Amino acid sequence: MAFKLFKNGDDLYNQGDDLIKRGEYAKARDILQKSIDKEGGVDDVAAVKVALIDLSSRLTNPAAYRNLESKLKAVSQKQLEFGLTTFDRDALITECVLTAQKMQIMDATSNDSSKNEAAKQLQDLAVRYQSEIGDRNLIVLEIFKNDTTVTGMTEFYNLMAVSYEYMSDAVVWDNPSQAAEYQQIAMGYRQQNGQSGDANLARIRSYSCTSKCWLCGRVATGEGIHFFSAPADVSPALDKDDNGVAKSKPEGSTQIYICRACYSAVSNRSDEISQDYYNRAMAEMRAMEARLQAEIAALQTQISFARMNR
Ligand SMILES: [Zn+2]
Repeated sequence: MAFKLFKNGDDLYNQGDDLIKRGEYAKARDILQKSIDKEGGVDDVAAVKVALIDLSSRLTNPAAYRNLESKLKAVSQKQLEFGLTTFDRDALITECVLTAQKMQIMDATSNDSSKNEAAKQLQDLAVRYQSEIGDRNLIVLEIFKNDTTVTGMTEFYNLMAVSYEYMSDAVVWDNPSQAAEYQQIAMGYRQQNGQSGDANLARIRSYSCTSKCWLCGRVATGEGIHFFSAPADVSPALDKDDNGVAKSKPEGSTQIYICRACYSAVSNRSDEISQDYYNRAMAEMRAMEARLQAEIAALQTQISFARMNR
């Protein structure tokens, strides 16, 4: 650089670094971008820092991780720093690859038919977190959340839990007992990860709960899926133990158990009845409106007739 009249790329780079240390990412990004424009190449560390700043506001966006990955691959330095954190380039590349995949699998999984496939992919990914990151903490969370508790291992447990929850969701319609078993495994992974697993336990209870339908007497397993409880007026004479293995109402409550078939038949019929009442009410309203219109028209005729004869 012949002139020092304007700041050169290195000066700008150092200024950008100071701003990052102060947490002023937006300003730092502008300055670093100027440094890249002046004399940066494709292998510019400033480009990595810009990509990191862009990631900071898009931590759940796979594209932001892929962008950072490509910038990291372009630099030759093995050790890099961002603010006060020093990190290994290759470790962050691995983290970007795995995180982008994780976000993508979880985003793409909406219906039950894709959940088994997603579960398989998540288990493969979990094993990669375990083997490729292991006990090391995730760099991105350390930099932006000051959190060093999330490691390759905690991600392994977390993803294994999610994968068994997906498998449970996929099978609960056909086989609630199997779904309960998957929830049991998911709970084990969550507990190894220091979580309570309460949500899993609640599902295990409802999926393994068996009842006898109060209406038809069929036995159904899986509360909220294959049978429901509904409010009912149960008189003391009716509320005696039915001596069966499966109960037809929860103990001491004013609810009864109804299997899905009975429940849907009753609610469909009740919808039809409501629709019928609605149609009749609307027809009567329309008839009344027509009568009123006729009376108004007759009155108007009388009024104009009276005016003409005044
Ligand atoms: Zn029934």
